[in-house]
Amino acid sequence: MSARHDIGDGTRAVHAGLPAPEQGRPFLEGPVLASAYHLSGDPSGQPFGYGRYANPTWTAFERAIGELEGGEAVAFASGMAACAAVLLPALAPGDVLVAAADGYPAVRAIAREQLEPRGVAVRFAPTPGTGLLDALDGAKLLWLETPSNPRLDVCDVPALAAAARERGALVAVDNTLATPLGQRPLELGADLSVASGSKALCGHSDLVLGVVTAADPERATALREWRHRTGAIPGPFETWLAHRSLATLELRVERQCATALALAELLSRREDVSGVRYPGLAADPAHEPARRQMRRFGPVVSFELDGRRRAERFLAALELAAEATSFGGVHSTAERRARWGQGDAVPEGFIRFSCGCEDSADVLADVERALHASA
Ligand SMILES: *Cc1c(COP(=O)(O)O)cnc(C)c1O
Repeated sequence: MSARHDIGDGTRAVHAGLPAPEQGRPFLEGPVLASAYHLSGDPSGQPFGYGRYANPTWTAFERAIGELEGGEAVAFASGMAACAAVLLPALAPGDVLVAAADGYPAVRAIAREQLEPRGVAVRFAPTPGTGLLDALDGAKLLWLETPSNPRLDVCDVPALAAAARERGALVAVDNTLATPLGQRPLELGADLSVASGSKALCGHSDLVLGVVTAADPERATALREWRHRTGAIPGPFETWLAHRSLATLELRVERQCATALALAELLSRREDVSGVRYPGLAADPAHEPARRQMRRFGPVVSFELDGRRRAERFLAALELAAEATSFGGVHSTAERRARWGQGDAVPEGFIRFSCGCEDSADVLADVERALHASA
């Protein structure tokens, strides 16, 4: 079933990928745990034969994501398995990859450690500004991440996708932070939307999963082939949990985005906090492109406190928000990104705060109390 535009996002999320009603059957079938299926005679045309090739739990989840993203989805073992399934087969020696310099560190590591040594030319450019556009000549693949994580800059996807298309380059957008309810990259002109399901998409901090959605069904077929050749397959149980989680996607992101905007506004008014970034803030440098291409601005707010010590005291003083990596879960989390080394190139006091689904007033009060206590 293709995306239905005549119904609201909440309705779409609740019903995404569900089978037609059938007497006595559950709304969503449980996970199918199988390595081998009964398969007699000629196997051609039989959808389910071996567990690495196909699984009905994947199929249902992929139908759901396909409806939400507006394309044909293929699920993977993790967000990085999904990223690798796009990056590795797309680029041969002599090809050029143009990628966001401020994108997910593991994606940049694949470019540097796997692609460059094989003769792929890698050009990194920052998400804001014209760097990505200027680097496009001769590119085979343009890799965008918007909003970028953790600095939350936004690039103009329709403009970049159009310029890439003119040059014959493929466009992939990492849609992890926004989720398909925040933006639909394929409608903005991208060929592929890639996401980690481990973050806001599934949102309960209880599974690792990835997905790629392709505008062109032939690309989805190639991705499925890559998956079964490399074995980058999601577990059926995780896939089922992921599908189950989608029903509340709209409720979760609505609450998270409302809290994130209120938190960004609160932090912007404080003198002991600097560099507040949230694409939904009217005064944010990313607001203009974000407003044009996004429908919701995501769960993450970033900001700076005065140095590492203050940031550590702040995190320790939070009572509701947990100190943890990752983002997009139902529980509010925060971390000092520089604790991971220089992967993100952020100041020592840089905090990434992910708003959960607690009552907004409680999250804001927790932050205010922790700022006061850590002053
Ligand atoms: C987490 C993340 C990934 C990788 O996803 P995993 O599920 O951890 O493999 C890729 N891109 C972005 C933007 C992420 O935040």
